[in-house]
Amino acid sequence: MNKTTASTLPKISFEDTKIAFSAKSNYQLKKAYWIFALMNQNWLVKLGTFFIKLFLFLHFPIKKLIKSTIFEQFCGGETIQECEATIDHLHKLKIGTILDYSVEGEENEKSFQTTKQEILKTIQKAHENQAIPFAVFKMTGIFQVELLEEFQTESGLSEENTDAFNHSKELLAEICQAAHDLKVRLFIDAEESWIQNTIDQLTYEMMERFNKEQAIIYNTFQMYRVDMLDNLSLAIQTAKDKNYFLGVKLVRGAYLEKERQRAHEDEYSEPLHKDKEHTDHDFNAGTLACLANINQVHFCIGTHNEQSCQLLIEEMAKQNMAKNHPNIYFAQLLGMSDNISYNLAAAGYNVAKYVPYGPVESVMPYLFRRAEENSSIAGQTSREFTLLLNEVKRRKNA
Ligand SMILES: Cc1cc2nc3c(=O)[nH]c(=O)nc-3n(C[C@H](O)[C@H](O)[C@H](O)COP(=O)(O)OP(=O)(O)OC[C@H]3O[C@@H](n4cnc5c(N)ncnc54)[C@H](O)[C@@H]3O)c2cc1C
Repeated sequence: MNKTTASTLPKISFEDTKIAFSAKSNYQLKKAYWIFALMNQNWLVKLGTFFIKLFLFLHFPIKKLIKSTIFEQFCGGETIQECEATIDHLHKLKIGTILDYSVEGEENEKSFQTTKQEILKTIQKAHENQAIPFAVFKMTGIFQVELLEEFQTESGLSEENTDAFNHSKELLAEICQAAHDLKVRLFIDAEESWIQNTIDQLTYEMMERFNKEQAIIYNTFQMYRVDMLDNLSLAIQTAKDKNYFLGVKLVRGAYLEKERQRAHEDEYSEPLHKDKEHTDHDFNAGTLACLANINQVHFCIGTHNEQSCQLLIEEMAKQNMAKNHPNIYFAQLLGMSDNISYNLAAAGYNVAKYVPYGPVESVMPYLFRRAEENSSIAGQTSREFTLLLNEVKRRKNA
């Protein structure tokens, strides 16, 4: 058998902007360049966020402008139907779509029902279309945050809230049952630590029911949490003991500031790693743990970090695993890190993009988060902006 040595390990050039932006016309490239150039200015993001919120509140007609700029960059459309072009486009490049209904609605029965219906539609759509390898949703779309939080307190759920909680649990079971019946893999996103234990518990209940033949339900592990590597090991062991497949989405974690602020205000010790190096270490260790248990664990690394992707690629090669091993996926967000997604897909790995969708006004919180994430940190140019700049220059000189 051929042994893979360090010198023969595969390397993907994530710098290849020609592949990364191959689908963008010069006009589209310039537009993306300007969007990221503007977002790269921290003060402008803050100012822009303030005015967009104000204008939307005052019903100023700015929807069209938002839709043709930042919305177009990061979202597939306002409805599933409007996402068709993006789904097809990604599929042509061998990249799957994960339709992400990104509406942060109100916490009432009507909104929970609407969300449930929409998630069922995405599951149905994934069932019909092989370009959609996963569906996804957030528990807070169908549960009141307050109840998720109360459930994991020492005193537990109060009697008066039990019915409402159980009702949301029925919605959850309905969604998971549909995913199971239609054989659609379903990610459950991770959220804040003060509700995550409840989310975990609910998710494992669903896994026990629906992951007997294959991983249908996937839990998300935020590796910026100090306890998460142990949680992952325990989850792997429990899946083995109870004889079901563990679905894992590994991420670093999106709520750093919020977590730190709350820990500071409520005077408890932060559940997060003290620095990024520890988060990176645990993310990579988590990846290796999943890989070591690949027959039991089906997993996806949701990351824009090139080193983490490179690590997984190399480890797969060391173990002579097929690049498109059915239990392993890489995922990024639409409009970000195309250099990773496109180059990985071109090399033959399983890749998917979260494609957020929903009415423009309702996905604004999602878009503000993307803008903030891409604004400059301590004067540094964002990675996306640098890549776009390189491609603009490359085309000019070509
Ligand atoms: C497909 C996909 C799905 C996702 N799903 C979820 C989800 O369900 N829930 C969720 O919370 N997030 C989710 N995310 C977001 C993710 O958690 C990260 O916020 C984001 O991807 C940036 O991390 P990175 O791995 O891409 O890379 P990097 O840019 O290398 O890492 C940035 C991350 O490192 C961590 N970090 C930064 N500074 C520090 C520090 N000082 N100390 C400790 N840690 C630090 C933070 O988590 C930060 O987000 C998802 C991302 C993707 C691509």
